Amino acid sequence: MSPMPWLRLLAMLASLATLPPTFAQGLQPDSHRQQRARTWLVTATSGATERLARHIESLGGRVERTLPRHQLLVVRMDSATANLLKGNSLIQNLEADPPRYPMQLPAMQSPQLPMPDRETIPYGIEQLDTPVLPYRHGTNRTICLIDSGIDLQHEDLPKGGVSGAFDVQGSGDWYVDETGHGTHVAGTIAALANDRGVRGLIPQPNDINLFVVKVFGKDPDTGESTWTSSADLITALDRCEDAGATIVNMSLGGPEKTWAERRAFARAFRHGLLLVAAAGNDGPDAPPSYPASYPSVISVGAVDARDAVADFSQHGAEVVAPGVDVLSTVPTASGRLGLLAAAGVGQFATDPLEGSALGEAQGSFFSCGLAQSTCPAQGQICLIERGENTFAEKVQHCQDGGGSGAVILNNEPGSFAGTLGDQPSTIPVVGLPQEAGPILAALPTGQAVTLSVTATSYGLKSGTSMATPHVVGVAALAWSYHPACSAQAVRLALDYSALGLGEPGRDPIYGFGLVQAQAARSLLEQLDCGKPSLPFPSSLYPLP
Ligand code: CA
Repeated sequence: MSPMPWLRLLAMLASLATLPPTFAQGLQPDSHRQQRARTWLVTATSGATERLARHIESLGGRVERTLPRHQLLVVRMDSATANLLKGNSLIQNLEADPPRYPMQLPAMQSPQLPMPDRETIPYGIEQLDTPVLPYRHGTNRTICLIDSGIDLQHEDLPKGGVSGAFDVQGSGDWYVDETGHGTHVAGTIAALANDRGVRGLIPQPNDINLFVVKVFGKDPDTGESTWTSSADLITALDRCEDAGATIVNMSLGGPEKTWAERRAFARAFRHGLLLVAAAGNDGPDAPPSYPASYPSVISVGAVDARDAVADFSQHGAEVVAPGVDVLSTVPTASGRLGLLAAAGVGQFATDPLEGSALGEAQGSFFSCGLAQSTCPAQGQICLIERGENTFAEKVQHCQDGGGSGAVILNNEPGSFAGTLGDQPSTIPVVGLPQEAGPILAALPTGQAVTLSVTATSYGLKSGTSMATPHVVGVAALAWSYHPACSAQAVRLALDYSALGLGEPGRDPIYGFGLVQAQAARSLLEQLDCGKPSLPFPSSLYPLP
């Protein structure tokens, strides 16, 4: 029984799948925004930090945090107090503290789904030319993930060499990931080569260290990710540096830049940290996102498995990497996987509808049409067409008629992501692309099929958030062969060895192009770490 026909079909469908509409990056609750508007970044003149802190407190402001290496005070105060401080000779700069969001989009559908009985190699591994370049053992570089934490118990993530820090706002334990964002990012870099799950760019344990700074938690009311701020991001950056990290993954950002942040990142880059951030998910017309668009930070845009730029990817990226339907780790058993199997044809994976029950159904298909009324399936699996009524109504009509499971066929080419809303089912329910219809129809009448929906620890996500760790992984691979090279040299090698996909040189859509591991390593060698001096042409790098 070969699964290949199904897999080939799904591979073909990938070329037909349409991308969902672009979503705005994150949520911006107004109440939080107003509350945040009262947090300020105040940079003191040299040697004046403590004096300035006392002065601010005397005016009624509250100094929440002092970041001495930046002469920076994070202050809670109202606008009137801030106005009183303007022009004060102890102050270099005074600005509001803007929010920063994770750069992740809702899950999409793709044929590359995790299979329970083998290891799936995410497409980015091949696309970035990394299989020929295993990490060179012994350098033990530390990669810092500023994110939502990671699921340290995950079966496919390394345990050794992983440590972390608690977020300054108490967003929780770094080894727990409530939203799944950080676990997905971590898996792209470091998921283990172990014949299960997925594989990361650096899949051998102990080759690298991960240091996790948790800045995103989960809002208990909305279930959405919380957001962080410029002040917290600078604090997190300090923690990365304190942990000895030399690469920082920031799958996050926001549209407002700050003077203090720009300065802190420039300092970190000068001190040898390679800084990598998501270009943003608001599409080509959106203004730049920060920290990605600071001169000291590599901005990463997203492409799909066929090197085409993602419609959500913001312009101005320095390089691009895979960021559409990326398969990686999600917190243990938090994902859902649908499997449809038929004797003689094999099995294939599909996405369950959101709200589907876990479980398994066996039986032949019973055609329910649009399932606009009770469908007398009686122990069989309802085969339902999409359209006219809601998914929840269709599934209810299947359940009412005694159906043991439900398959909903799309009414247009490609796959779809559906939800049962607030009416979860008691039977397993999956969606299938329209193209699967003729194959199911060709099954002999009464042919038994097995439909199951199970919990999985792997899943798909899209976003420049997902592209960012690909660049981080490639940088670490190339750097491992030339550990004495500077972050500047590695950055230059990544850029100039990238596979150009747009206009020659740096273009607004693809930047320098798709990063390539082996080519970056070779160029680093040719450059001899950029000695004696590294060119950063101002036409290409808007350095200050
Ligand atoms: Ca694995």
